[in-house]
Amino acid sequence: MNLVIIGNGITGVTCALTVRQLRPDARITLISEESPYHISRPALMYAYMGHLRPQDLKPYGDWFWAENRLELVHATVTGLDTAQQQVELSTGLALPYDKLLVATGSVSRVHNWPGQDLAGVQGLYGLADLERMHRETHAVHQAVVVGGGLIGIELAEMLRSRGIAVTMLVRDAHYWGSVLPPEEAALVNRQLQAHGVTVQYGTELAEIIGDEAGRARAVRTSQGEEIPCQWVGLAIGVTPNIGLAQAAGLETDRGILVDEQLQTSQAHVFAAGDCAQHRQPGPEEVPIEQLWYTGRQQGETVAYAICGQPRPYQRGPWFNSAKFFQLEYQTYGRVPARLPAGIHSFYWQHPTEQHLLRINFQADAHGAVMGMNTMGIRQRHDVWDQWLRTATPITQVLSALGTANFDPEFFRRHEAAIVGEFARQFPQYPVAPPRRKGIFSFR
Ligand SMILES: Cc1cc2nc3c(=O)[nH]c(=O)nc-3n(C[C@H](O)[C@H](O)[C@H](O)COP(=O)(O)OP(=O)(O)OC[C@H]3O[C@@H](n4cnc5c(N)ncnc54)[C@H](O)[C@@H]3O)c2cc1C
Repeated sequence: MNLVIIGNGITGVTCALTVRQLRPDARITLISEESPYHISRPALMYAYMGHLRPQDLKPYGDWFWAENRLELVHATVTGLDTAQQQVELSTGLALPYDKLLVATGSVSRVHNWPGQDLAGVQGLYGLADLERMHRETHAVHQAVVVGGGLIGIELAEMLRSRGIAVTMLVRDAHYWGSVLPPEEAALVNRQLQAHGVTVQYGTELAEIIGDEAGRARAVRTSQGEEIPCQWVGLAIGVTPNIGLAQAAGLETDRGILVDEQLQTSQAHVFAAGDCAQHRQPGPEEVPIEQLWYTGRQQGETVAYAICGQPRPYQRGPWFNSAKFFQLEYQTYGRVPARLPAGIHSFYWQHPTEQHLLRINFQADAHGAVMGMNTMGIRQRHDVWDQWLRTATPITQVLSALGTANFDPEFFRRHEAAIVGEFARQFPQYPVAPPRRKGIFSFR
């Protein structure tokens, strides 16, 4: 089998490595325009901040690819010919395939703001953006970041690490309003304040104003305010990178449409990772998943389909984690920003420190847990995954909460306070005493 993979991100590389195990005889070629070698996108910010060297962005040594007989092509794919079963490259070459995986990831979303093409205005997605940001923030004193999601706060942290004054423009009334309930957003806001970031909520970008040299010198907001700055970061989200697939006639919507084995509308052509959109997502699942671990899971699933051993894609309970400056955040299952009908939300926050736990559960006699958020406390993925998969009652979860405590050696334990607060908020759900001695002890 001759497998060609467009994209050497986590999805493409996981597929390549899985196919190598399943089909030792396969010829596998990975094509990428970004870099010949796979890089870790979540680690980009640490290279800018000087915590990692550029070579540390590569999870595998350069010898790894030849050792696993994976051929690397550093080029842009300019066209797909699904009738001839070949991809066309910017170098003028055409590569034939038996099976093709499109794993082209996402692109930063843009909005057509006046001035967005000025020097000193950019998003953050890949290596080219990182290099440009290195160059163009060199002599910058004031920056504006547009958008209050995960990449927006990464940009703010990167800029603050170099002492650059940062103003964030956030459209919603609170930070990441589409995802976080207000209490979680308030804790993130405290981090932003503590790290010297000025945030303007309920504010949108209207235009970016340039100087005579064609470089950003200020932004104007939806309220008509002019904020001086020499650099503008655009972080209003990402969108699936589907241009190539669209031009080749693959069925697309917001992403490249795929079935449960990640097969596209064309024979022998698969799509996975950020660029793919599930035609029929399972209950509680979203059609487009733009995360590192979902890219890995989809890369594995698609490898099995490519090798003729299909198994349906099943992500399992939703999971994500991030760090907002110093504040750790984890979310498991579903915790929407606004509480849906029929769901209770138990919420505990430490009176003085930045620790928070929210557990959503069914508002019926059984009280099955639906999802949880933590900030400043780390919980064990395997334990929560199991509780969510088995619809464990909230009372049982709380009496065993200590078993989910991640690395109790290093984290203060709050279970007693949490259970006490739960009894106050939900006396109709009595919590049994802890299963293990000492689980509720404070240190
Ligand atoms: C700054 C940043 C931080 C992030 N942090 C986190 C995090 O902490 N946790 C988390 O879960 N997720 C994070 N994400 C999201 C996560 O990185 C993505 O979900 C994941 O990288 C998607 O993997 P992928 O393989 O599908 O696509 P990508 O990693 O985007 O790889 C796609 C590849 O396709 C190549 N390509 C595209 N078009 C062509 C073409 N025409 N020709 C040749 N090559 C092409 C590109 O060069 C690219 O290398 C972050 C994303 C960003 C941008």
